[in-house]
Amino acid sequence: VSLKAPRGDDQSLIVALRIRPMNEDEILQGATPISHCVDDKMVVLMDPLDGNEDILRANRTRERQFMFDAAFDGTASQKEVYEKTSKALIPSVINGFNATVFAYGATGAGKTYTMLGTDDDPGIMAHALNDLFLEMDKSKESMKYSVRLSYLEIYNEMIRDLLHPETGFLDLREDAKGVQIAGLSEVNAQCTGEVMEILIRGNRERTQEPTAANKASSRSHAVLQISVQQQSRLRDVTQQIRTGKFFLVDLAGSERAANTQNRGKRMVEGAHINRSLLALGNCINALSSMDKTKLRYVNYRDSKLTRLLKDSLGGNCKTIMIAHVSPASLFFEESRNTLVYADRAK
Ligand code: ADP
Ligand code: MG
Repeated sequence: VSLKAPRGDDQSLIVALRIRPMNEDEILQGATPISHCVDDKMVVLMDPLDGNEDILRANRTRERQFMFDAAFDGTASQKEVYEKTSKALIPSVINGFNATVFAYGATGAGKTYTMLGTDDDPGIMAHALNDLFLEMDKSKESMKYSVRLSYLEIYNEMIRDLLHPETGFLDLREDAKGVQIAGLSEVNAQCTGEVMEILIRGNRERTQEPTAANKASSRSHAVLQISVQQQSRLRDVTQQIRTGKFFLVDLAGSERAANTQNRGKRMVEGAHINRSLLALGNCINALSSMDKTKLRYVNYRDSKLTRLLKDSLGGNCKTIMIAHVSPASLFFEESRNTLVYADRAK
């Protein structure tokens, strides 16, 4: 593994946290909100046992604070989350650099809402594409661009094309050109409208298995890859083609296999999901703590997800992790696990 340039002064890893609004179901169950934004960077998590009078009398508040590069609560709009996290990546992708945005969190915490969103309120994928097209338009006199999309899922360490699921499982290969997935389809994208439709259709192809924790839990990682190729139209300039790769990843639910009372097949899924989330966490952690004195070994080989993203994590690549939690007391364990994972990523 070749280690690229160490982390520079400009932040190459940004970690954000989004708390979704309470939903009706949580309110009906009598849940109280326990995750709050203190300001635009700080989040507190209250232990639901806080109500215990003895603890209060002993003045032992069981509140834990976490700092992030950005923190959003239930009042934040899709656009705001996009603008304060991923928007800054657009120019670098156009100029040929790779970048990755991850949505992390337990099932139901809001990952797919942030990344894909809905027809009425699209998420980061659509906003990013929209800005890419707007940005490219500004230099269309001198530059020629092409934008290609692929959309895949990694489920139990197997790769499927979400745009053409009938193709079956695909192989991940590494050659001189870098990481490739043999047989993965690509679409040429001209505008955001048509793309959103394709993505929503692709998302419906994701492997959804009912678990005890959630009937429609997403047990797969969904990866949208946007490749932007740039070439100068000017004759005299060396005809250099640059390609920037932008990965937008809706990770599988981070809840523990043990928490979902999984048996058999589900247990295996849980183990794979944890393996790739752990491998991802380790890679990000190693990259973020890289400085001149401490170059740690980055083990990409541990999972399909990290192998696929090998050229897009660390070095000159910018990485954004948006961690998600429900505000509800019902999910104290999941929220704490997510906050600790995201905190450790820094
Ligand atoms: P995940 O992908 O993490 O399992 P979802 O994104 O599917 O979770 O979110 C679960 C539910 O909560 C969905 O119905 C989604 O529309 C809703 N939801 C999530 N985040 C928000 C938000 N910020 N504002 C409004 N609704 C949200
Ligand atoms: Mg989801």
